[in-house]
Order: sequence, then C-alpha cells, then structure tokens
Amino acid sequence: TVEPLYIITPTYRRPEQIPELTRMSHTLMLVKNVHWLVIEDATVATKQVTRLLERTGLKFDHLTAPMPEKYKQKKGAKPRGVSNRNRGLQWIRANATNGVFYFADDDNTYDIALFDEIRKTKTISMFPVGLCTKFGLSSPVIKNGKFVGFYDGWIAGRKFPVDMAGFAVSVRFLLQRPNATMPFKAGYEEDGFLKSLAPFEPKEIEFLADNCTKVLAWHTQTKKNEPSAPLDMKLYGETNLV
Ligand code: UDP
Ligand code: MN
Repeated sequence: TVEPLYIITPTYRRPEQIPELTRMSHTLMLVKNVHWLVIEDATVATKQVTRLLERTGLKFDHLTAPMPEKYKQKKGAKPRGVSNRNRGLQWIRANATNGVFYFADDDNTYDIALFDEIRKTKTISMFPVGLCTKFGLSSPVIKNGKFVGFYDGWIAGRKFPVDMAGFAVSVRFLLQRPNATMPFKAGYEEDGFLKSLAPFEPKEIEFLADNCTKVLAWHTQTKKNEPSAPLDMKLYGETNLV
C-alpha cells in the first residue's frame, strides 16, 4: 500500500467555488490514497462544499480558517489562502505520521501524473509550474543533472522563487520542524514557508518531473463571474429556481 498524499486546498465562497472544486475533485478521484484537506477562508463551512466532498468518496476533512481581519482590511495584495494553509499544517501535525503533503489551490490544473511524482518526495521536492508569472513558467533549472538556478518571472529577492504549486514536502520532514509556518506576506508565502523549513539549500532539493523537464501543474486562473444579484440568489452548485 502507498503512503498517504495530503492535499491542502485553500478555498473561499464565491460563484466559482463549486465548479473549481468539482473539477479538482474529479482529478483527485483518479489518485490513490489521497486525503484532501479542504480549508475554507470562512467562519462557517459552506454546506454545498461539504455535500460535494461527501459525493466524491475521497478521504477528506473540511475545515475553516478565516483570514485575520487586519489582513482583510488591507488595501492591495492580500495574503490569500495563508490562514487556510497554516490550518492544514496544524492538522497534519496533529493527525499525520507519514506520507507527503502538497499545497494545491482550488483553481489550478493538475495532471494526475503529478501525484505519482510527488509521492517520491523524501524531504522537499520541486517541479515546474506552467502558466505562471509573465514568463509563463516557473521552474528550477537543471543542467547535466545539477541544479543551476530558478527560472521565474518574479524573483524579487526570494531565495526560493517558486510557485505554491511547485513543491511538495514529506510529512516526517515537517514534523521534525515544529516552527515551520507560512508568513502572512503577500508574494513571499512560498519563500517564507520554505525558509522556515531550513536548514536546507536549493541543491539538496529533489527535482521531479524528469529533472524538471515536464509540466504537470498549471497556475490557471478563472475569470471572475460577478452577477449583480445578491450571493444567496446566485446559482450555487444547485439551482434555487423552484
Ligand atoms: N483564497 C482564499 N481566500 C481569499 C482568496 C483566495 O482562501 O480571499 C484561496 C483560493 O481559493 C486559492 C488560494 O487561496 O486556493 C489562492 O488564491 P487565488 O487563486 O485567488 O490566487 P492567485 O492564483 O491569483 O495567486
Ligand atoms: Mn489561483
């Protein structure tokens, strides 16, 4: 039997939530021994999301972790999904002993082959993410089997200029680092979290997806649909036209 794969997915209530989670759940239904941690940026879990999760037959936990008010009030870029992911880490510390975890946003696109790659992770692994930043790709660069640097359209002084969908971590590795956490710092969430797992250097990372030559995850973004009706009157995973 294969070790568990913990998929930590931040999500929040909006018209696209059910379609995004439907698509993502149908990907995960094709993967063995997945435990899906779906964490809503909300104080109350959305019942349509619970029903969707129940229908998948997947192992799951449906948790809530609202963004703290002080970040919600902030103008400009907000640390989206950070309280959710930290809640996921807390769940893993309390409940998991082995396997691998991966931060998978609800709106990305995942090839099922990605999950077989991620399972190989002994410490920290990295791999390319397509449709990411202005370069259209974020990836470690491997030359003759050796790490030479990161390719990313937004380096911004980061030690690990990678996308959230571009790395996975072994549960045992996390459990050995009780202080590892994701900072509430927009743009620096990945870098801050990876630095909090230190000490380790880029050259110690396990490079997957045929030495980072295959794109198996894409940072797709869904166009906002904002009908003018109040939220409760919108179609939300089930029609309310009776
Ligand atoms: N998210 C959230 N609360 C928010 C905005 C986003 O929990 O207020 C979640 C969202 O569902 C996604 C992740 O955080 O899983 C990243 O957000 P988004 O996809 O909007 O960020 P982008 O891809 O544009 O960087
Ligand atoms: Mn996104």
